[in-house]
Amino acid sequence: MKKYNLFIGGEEVTPASGNWFDTENPYTAETWAQIPNGNADDVDKAAAAAHHALHNGTWAEMTPTERGAVLRRIGDVIAERAEQLAEVEVLDNGKLFSEMSGQLTYLPQWFYYYGGLADKIEGTVVPVDKKGYFLYTQRQPKGVVGIITPWNSPLLLLAWKLAPALAAGCTVVIKPSEFTSASTLELAALLGDAGVPPGVVNVVTGYGREVGAPLVEHPLISKVSFTGSDQTGRHINVAAADKLKHVSLELGGKSPNVVFDDADLEAAVNGVISGIFAATGQTCIAGSRLLVQETIHDEFVERLVALARTARMGDPMEESTDIGPVTTAAQYDKVLDYIDIAKKEGATVALGGRAADRPECGRGRFVEPTILTNVRNDMRIAQEEVFGPVLSVIPFADEADAVAIANDVRFGLGAGVWTSDIARAFRVSNRIASGTVWVNTYRAVSYMAPFGGMKDSGIGRENGLHAIDEFLETKSVWINTGAPSTSPFVMR
Ligand code: NAD
Repeated sequence: MKKYNLFIGGEEVTPASGNWFDTENPYTAETWAQIPNGNADDVDKAAAAAHHALHNGTWAEMTPTERGAVLRRIGDVIAERAEQLAEVEVLDNGKLFSEMSGQLTYLPQWFYYYGGLADKIEGTVVPVDKKGYFLYTQRQPKGVVGIITPWNSPLLLLAWKLAPALAAGCTVVIKPSEFTSASTLELAALLGDAGVPPGVVNVVTGYGREVGAPLVEHPLISKVSFTGSDQTGRHINVAAADKLKHVSLELGGKSPNVVFDDADLEAAVNGVISGIFAATGQTCIAGSRLLVQETIHDEFVERLVALARTARMGDPMEESTDIGPVTTAAQYDKVLDYIDIAKKEGATVALGGRAADRPECGRGRFVEPTILTNVRNDMRIAQEEVFGPVLSVIPFADEADAVAIANDVRFGLGAGVWTSDIARAFRVSNRIASGTVWVNTYRAVSYMAPFGGMKDSGIGRENGLHAIDEFLETKSVWINTGAPSTSPFVMR
């Protein structure tokens, strides 16, 4: 069995506690590796290593162009090991190899894109209104960044933070989810080959309270970049506010997929199914509320049920598998609880609605793809994030009704709009309060496309040119080029 170590100062380090915990394969329910149980002492060591690397030695002395070259080499190293890293992710989170391998093959693009951006971070010369001064601005790294990630797509979500943070010149301490720490440790071990100097990237594994919380509060951490649930995000925001730290938060969602009766229904059925059943519904952008126009409600539900029924469950490593297990035991219980809550609230189970015990499910925790009708938008099942393969179907009358229901939720991460009317596509996209709207498609992401939430779905944006701003500070430098010395007691 593989026994991992922490990664601090460019080296494998045993945890201060002297303890490791087991990590389980969600499909076989077997322990396959041991993860170091880090604590505040390890965080301290990692923050000190990152702080040292920020101010001294190779990283601090690199030109932005040299930093960009390092990022591109990270991309190359990931490209060479994409399959191997994808396998480790599947072992830990049980998501389909076909999906994780796609993510890992695409991952280098983040490092190429932000590698290219590293030497295009420019300041300005300000045509200052005061005579005898030259004023310029400089954009400098924010400092040591604490990166905290969830279990559903560990390396993809890490890359969204790590690539722009490094391009900006920051150094980082990463705390991956306790359920899926292995792939982040595997990646860290490859960074030396890419020329990342020791201390620039550090990984401390462990639990939220024992590693995450001290990381957020650590005095050497300038910024916290977090992806996870809104409950934890709220907690981190409060803790960081107390220490006056910068925070960006990518949180949960309750995204609507809005299908109008003029849509290409076959494409919409496919899009709705992929929005909720891909990744077993364990994605922040899951299209967990289907808003469907009344005129096509029955026909659409029938077609959805027919297609969802064909989904094959089983070993996530098999190419023929469509739906894998739920990643954690707690998540499995939560999904089943929500199905019960929905039934009690009056929803009708049109498909699934229970745990799956098909022979091909092995010892994994599987939930049948579930479609619930007769859902009202004020029910808990329509308002709270389930993070599983559970779709709530809600009818609407017209465009105004669709927009009102879409927005009547505290989240605002993603939304889908299915229509063949281009003017309606613009109107509805404009009015839905979410960080991303997909028209006649769903769940597309790119390193170029800004991503993030409105309302309770988060603060800040990842991906795209401006994501690098999250890791930069602007400094104003005033040079006296001949302004006369005046009274020392009056501000100039
Ligand atoms: P989580 O909030 O339980 O955990 C996320 C991370 O926070 C883990 O590493 C955890 O150990 C850590 N943590 C827990 N308590 C902490 C504390 N007090 N201080 C600091 N760190 C702490 O989330 P999860 O269950 O791992 O992930 C699922 C959630 O993530 C869902 O809500 C999902 O919507 C969200 N998510 C959002 C995005 C996005 O980009 N918006 C992407 C993926 C997942």
